[in-house]
Amino acid sequence: MAEHHNIIVIGSGPGGCTAGMYTSRANLDTVIFEGMQPGGQLMITTEVENFPGFLDGVQGPEMMDILRKQAQKFGAKSIYESIVKVDFSARPFKVWNGSDKEYTADAVIISTGATAKLLNIPSEQKYWGRGISACATCDGFFYRGKEVYVVGGGDTALEEANYLTNMASSVTIIHRRQEFRASKIMVDKVKSNPKIKFALDSVVDEFLGETVNGFPSLNGIRLKNVKTGELRDVHADGCFIAIGHRPNTSVFADYLTLDAEGYIVTAGKSTYTNIPGIFACGDVQDHVYRQAIAAAGSGCAAGIDAERWLMENK
Ligand code: NDP
Repeated sequence: MAEHHNIIVIGSGPGGCTAGMYTSRANLDTVIFEGMQPGGQLMITTEVENFPGFLDGVQGPEMMDILRKQAQKFGAKSIYESIVKVDFSARPFKVWNGSDKEYTADAVIISTGATAKLLNIPSEQKYWGRGISACATCDGFFYRGKEVYVVGGGDTALEEANYLTNMASSVTIIHRRQEFRASKIMVDKVKSNPKIKFALDSVVDEFLGETVNGFPSLNGIRLKNVKTGELRDVHADGCFIAIGHRPNTSVFADYLTLDAEGYIVTAGKSTYTNIPGIFACGDVQDHVYRQAIAAAGSGCAAGIDAERWLMENK
């Protein structure tokens, strides 16, 4: 026998928690499937200084704990499982967890986010959040007057490099070949920026660091020239990995319209997907802003969209 709820929210970052807060506050029986990484990307962030309302900043995990509790306060229930299969072909919508348990819902809000692609070398995890980041807008401010590196040759990497020149003393782009994947206008922009240097035909061989106050802290990068094999160590205060994101949409691909990069397509300014009753919010449908506050904002919109849709489609 399937377990039924008015609203199933899949994903528990700022988008999912905010959506769940709105629907439970509207007196709709709501469950939030927290997934593999409860709290989403902010759980692997350290300090968040740009979420309105936290004058002195807040640690990412602490903020997610607050957002979850705020949703629970109005009755949303957290289920610490992932959804591995869905059937959106008819109402009520069906979803299954990893143990093949079936849940049904009158409306579903998807907020499964996007995952930053990583280099997957052991030292990357060691210094993650302690010199290594995947978001210049989030963490660039911590590198005022510092020497930073950006890995990648696409529009994101070049845009982040440009942005970082507003605070860092120098920015070096590490790219594995000579030509950039980024648009010509972005390439021209970084090439004419005197603060930006290049380490081309190069990859990160290893991140280097020291222990500060008992914690690992990045202080260098071992670069490898892919053509000559030459290794060289450079000083680095920070490194931003910008080699792309992967939206977490594979489970929904049979039902929902995705764009060329796999993000869920939503209609206009709304959170409506191509299936009435299925809504999407946060980074899973936004590859432009990718900010916690933007995800929370679209989570609010998804909560309201779902509530109004259910009123009209009882
Ligand atoms: P992209 O996939 O476009 O670029 C990823 C870059 O990372 C490539 O240069 C790639 O190298 C490099 N890379 C991938 N894997 C590795 C690895 N393991 N080691 C080293 N380097 C690696 O991702 P983006 O996030 O830059 O962009 C995604 C989409 O969003 C694009 O369509 C882009 O145009 C768009 N975008 C648009 C913006 C705008 O218009 N303002 C801003 C940001 C993004 P290689 O080139 O050799 O494959």
